[in-house]
This record gives sequence, C-alpha cells and structure tokens, in this order.
Amino acid sequence: WNSGSKPVFSDVCCELTTQYGEMLEEMRETFDTGRTRCLAWRKQQLRQLIKMYAENHEQIAQAVMADSGGTKLRAAGELQPASCADECLANIDSWARERWVGGLFDRQYVRPEPKGVMLIISPWNVPWQLTMRPLTTAIAAGNCVVMKPSELVPRCAELMQQLVEKYLDPRCFRVVQGAIPETTALLNLRWDHILYTGNGHVGRIVMAAAAKHLTPVTLELGGKSPVVVDETAKIDVAVKRIALMKWAISGQICVNADYVFVHRSKEQEFLEKLKATVLSMTGEDGKGRADDYGLIGSEKHVDRIEHLISTAGGTILCGGTEGIERENRFVPPTVIQRPNFDAPIMQEEIFGPVLPVFPNSHHDCLVLPHVQQEIPLAFYIFSESSRNVEKALNYIQSGGACVNTIFEHLLPETLPLGGLGESGMGAAPQRCLFSASDGWKGLREETFGAYHGKFGFDEFSHRRAVFVKSTLPGMQGTMFPLPEAGKPSPD
Ligand code: NAD
Repeated sequence: WNSGSKPVFSDVCCELTTQYGEMLEEMRETFDTGRTRCLAWRKQQLRQLIKMYAENHEQIAQAVMADSGGTKLRAAGELQPASCADECLANIDSWARERWVGGLFDRQYVRPEPKGVMLIISPWNVPWQLTMRPLTTAIAAGNCVVMKPSELVPRCAELMQQLVEKYLDPRCFRVVQGAIPETTALLNLRWDHILYTGNGHVGRIVMAAAAKHLTPVTLELGGKSPVVVDETAKIDVAVKRIALMKWAISGQICVNADYVFVHRSKEQEFLEKLKATVLSMTGEDGKGRADDYGLIGSEKHVDRIEHLISTAGGTILCGGTEGIERENRFVPPTVIQRPNFDAPIMQEEIFGPVLPVFPNSHHDCLVLPHVQQEIPLAFYIFSESSRNVEKALNYIQSGGACVNTIFEHLLPETLPLGGLGESGMGAAPQRCLFSASDGWKGLREETFGAYHGKFGFDEFSHRRAVFVKSTLPGMQGTMFPLPEAGKPSPD
C-alpha cells in the first residue's frame, strides 16, 4: 500500500499498534491483580474450554470444512485441545507445585510462575489445534493470552473470536483477527512470551521483533522431514503408514514425510506398492475421494506446489501437474521417483501432496547430507533392526522421531512437540522418540522449544528461584561479617 487513496501500511500499523497497545495494557493490569495466579481460576478456565468444545464441536467442524475442505474426520482432529485441557486439569496441582531443591536450615525452592501476557500466532493448516493446544498449557501456567489465527482460515478465526469471548475470561483472553498489518502491529508491542507456528521466514520477523523487547520466543516451524526405509523394513507396513499420513489433509502437516530414502534392494517393491496404494485411494485420474483430502491452503500454494512438480525432474509415477485444478485448490496425490537433488522440490519444504522417493544403499552413512542441510522437525525410520535405528537416530538430528510410523509422536500429551535449528526453538530441554511397536521410548536431552502437556506448562512458566534464610536463634548472622570502620578487612 503506498499511493493514491489506499492507506499506507505504516499508518495502518501505527493505528493498530495504538489500539492493541491499549488492549495489552488492560490485560497487563488484570495480570498484575494476580487473578491468573489462582489455581482454582485456571481450572475453571480449562473447564470452560472443554465446555466450549463440547457445546460447539459441530460448529467448529463446519468452520474447518468451510475454510479447508476435507471430511469430519479431519475436523475431528481439531477437537483434540479439549483432551489437552483434561490433561492439564489432571496434572496442574503437581505441575504448579513449588519444588524444594535444597537447604537444611535455609530453604531453597523453585516456584513455577506465569510469565505474564503471551501472544500466540498460528497458521492455517490446523487452525484450532495450533491455537488452542498451546492455549491450554498457557492457561495452566497462569498467563493471559492474545491469539492471532491465520487470515487464510477466516471462518475459523471468526468463530474462534466469538467462542473465546463467550466462554473464557475476556479480561485475560482475546482473539485478534487479521493478516500481515495486524500481526506486524501486535509484534510492535512488548509481550512476555511469543509462540509462533508457521514458516521460517516469518519466524525470523517474529524473533527480530521480540529481540527489541528481550521477549522469549517459541518458534514452531517446519522443514523437510525425511523417511528412511531400510533393507529390513516391512514394506507393506511402511507403504500403508506413509500413504495414510502423507495424503491426509493434502500433505499439509508440519511433520509430514517430505521425501523417502528406500534401500536400493527394496526400491522397486516399495514404489510398486506405493503406486498401487495411491491408485486404490484415488482412482486412475487421481481425483477419487478428492474431497476427503481437503483443499490446498490457497491458490498461491497451488502455484507453489505446481512449480515444485514441474521443475522436479525424475519420473512421475502417479499424479502430476495435469490433474491440478487451481480454482478448486486441488493437487492430486503425486509420487516422483528420483527427482533432481538440486531441484526446488529438494531445496524447500513441500507442504503438499507430493512425495519424492530415492534409492539409498547406506542407511547408516545416509545420502541425506547431500540434501538435508537443515535440522527437520521430524525424522522417520522403518526398520526391524534396532542397531540400524540407533545408528540413524544418532546420525540424523530432528525435533522428534518415529520408528515404523510417521506423525504419531505428535498425539500423546506425554511427548513434547518442538524443533531444532531451522525447525524451531524455545526453552524446554528434551527430544522425544516414539516407536510404533514399543510406544513411548524416552527423551533425549537437547535444547529446543516445545509444548504439549507438561512441556507447554514449563515453556510458558518462569522458574523463579527462592532462597529463604533462617532467623532462628543462633542463625541470625550474615553470610560474612559486616565490615566495621577502622578495622582491617578479613583475609
Ligand atoms: P501462515 O501463512 O498462516 O502464517 C502463520 C501466521 O503468520 C499467520 O497468523 C499470519 O498472519 C502470520 N504472518 C504471515 N506473514 C507474516 C508477516 N510477513 N509478518 C507477520 N506475520 C505474518 O502459515 P504458513 O507459514 O504458511 O504455515 C505453514 C508453515 O508452518 C510450514 O512451514 C509448516 O511446516 C509450519 N508449521 C509448523 C507447525 C509446528 O508445529 N512446528 C505446525 C503447522 C505448520
């Protein structure tokens, strides 16, 4: 916006900044009253969130389908924050408890405290989950929150605002609708924590804005999450599980399989079975049950994905650009065998229903470094060899990982969601590992930002150190003798 009668971007931002600044001021005043510190109040807000979902799940599902297409199954995934709120309710007393850490006559403890007023900026692909799921742990931690859902899902954003106003304490929780000018104006303000979910380009804008106020930031970003299928893998299982998640919501899931490296000896079998599975899902024209997959986020994203396919090289085994319908925001499920490593499709996150597949002869000294410059949000390996799994996990860093499945580590509240490097950052230390056969496997100590369950509570809390000095008789001195004028200092 720069000329004629159109408003100038900076003027609009300036006006909005003033308006949001007043809102933030009011919320900070509420926070300062101590209202959100009360555990009973936090529990009541969490119950209200559950009630909001219970009374409006049909409306929420309709808004999701109106914005993004797909079936009720897709929309059902958006209802999960209600169970996250349940998890918070079940554990909040223990999470919020002071932790005694030492001292005999003195008392030393760590007190989890709310940070203050938070900003949550969320994307379009899973709009309720990615706004409400962090909100549950932010409420549990005792923060006030402003949410800014994506402009690409206007019906969800509108309904979210209505429901938050109706069910949650309006002095502490607000939804701001809007696009870049609104987000820019919000980012001009001083927040006590910002959670941004989206792409790395905007992640950098968010971080630069936060740096001006030394605001802590959690960035939940994306990346190219690789899948390795080794020579011991059960190919039928791998194909089924990859196909289910890769084409759910048209591949627009942050932790989706971006590309596959399959052991050279299994390449043909894998591709034949994958192609047969895709065709059985979609029919020869690629359009069967197209409504189930949901729409591509916007026509701009359709153009982006079309460009990735048309410049990929390699062999298109199914799908391709011919079946693309821009105005219907549809790209058919596409498998590309051996595209060029240098093509854009291997340089940027696909975030769409396209799967490149490469042969790989060494799973333990993976070819990945040629294409994998950045740490992805997820890493997946299909293998029956625990030695191979361990080697691959040691060799390839990622936010989270699954063995013999993809995506499932995202579901339990007991596992953190978070990235590392280009895929995200924050404060809570841990990396999760989920195995389809064994379930929960453990945490690796690494530093990155995460939320979900207790990890969200920790991320949005300040751990305040408190030292209580004894004043009992016989313990009323100071740590060192007080200096006295005219006397030499002690050695
Ligand atoms: P998006 O375009 O909806 O952007 C996200 C938010 O940023 C929106 O609220 C939008 O208004 C705001 N925004 C956009 N441009 C901006 C600008 N220039 N200045 C300030 N704010 C701006 O979402 P997207 O980035 O297209 O989402 C897709 C990306 O998100 C993918 O990379 C995906 O991997 C990632 N993602 C990550 C997670 C995760 O949990 N790590 C989850 C979902 C999506």
